[in-house]
This record gives sequence, structure tokens and C-alpha cells, in this order.
Amino acid sequence: MKHNMWAIFLVMLPLLVVSGCATTPKPPRNAQAFERKMEVTGYCKCKQCCNWQRTWLGRAVVADGPAEGKKKKVGQTASGTKAKVGTIAADTKKYPFGTVMYIPGYGYGRVEDRGTAIQGEHIDLYFDSHKAALKWGRVDKVVKVWAP
Ligand SMILES: [Zn+2]
Repeated sequence: MKHNMWAIFLVMLPLLVVSGCATTPKPPRNAQAFERKMEVTGYCKCKQCCNWQRTWLGRAVVADGPAEGKKKKVGQTASGTKAKVGTIAADTKKYPFGTVMYIPGYGYGRVEDRGTAIQGEHIDLYFDSHKAALKWGRVDKVVKVWAP
């Protein structure tokens, strides 16, 4: 009996370690990947990239479009997660939240955000700074996609 418990513990240990630091998105096991040529741009959480401004009270609100004037949580994605390196904004009608992608030169990312200008085969990659987002610019890449 005691032996079995140890065996279970030893099997579980690496699993616990892996799930405990699962910060970088990993492609789902047994999921079929496909490749797509996409237009890839970069963004950060700044006013310019995310269409927000501060009111005279210092509150962050959406700068224009249908949600103009609505409260905006800076650095929060459309799916409610915190935007970080590895966050991808995509056309969620095509690539729903949770889709894992591999972008050469950027690495793995997960779709957690969207934007009105992000449509079809166009994705936006999150960077820590506006400078880094600008440096990435606008490039065509063959992206590997794992649908959730
Ligand atoms: Zn920016």
C-alpha cells in the first residue's frame, strides 16, 4: 500500500512542477497544427496602441469607436486576462480565445485579446513597451496555429 502511494507521488511531482509555472503558452497535446501566412503587427498597452485616453479626472476611457467614453482597464485583454508578452490579439471569429500560435521571431503566444482593426489573417502581438512594438513593425510570417 505504502509503495503505491509513493509511486503516485513520484508520478504527480513533475506534473505539479509543470503546471505551477505554466506561464508561456504551450500547444495543446494531440491537437493538429496548421500553418497560415499572416500579417503580424505589434502592440503594447499604451493609449496609442489600445485606443484609450484619460478624462480630466484621470480616468482611463475608450477614446473613440462604438464604446467611446466607456471605462477602460489599462493592460487588461478582451478576455479579462492581464496582457503580457505571449498575448495575441486576433480575429476571434476565426481564432477564438485560447488558440495557441507559434510566431517565428516571437515564440509561442495565446489568443486572449482582439481589436476592431484585427481582422482575418492579421494578428497583433503584445510587447512590454511601445518601442519594442514599433520595432516589430508589420511583417508577414508563416504562423503555426493550434485551435483549442
Ligand atoms: Zn503602444
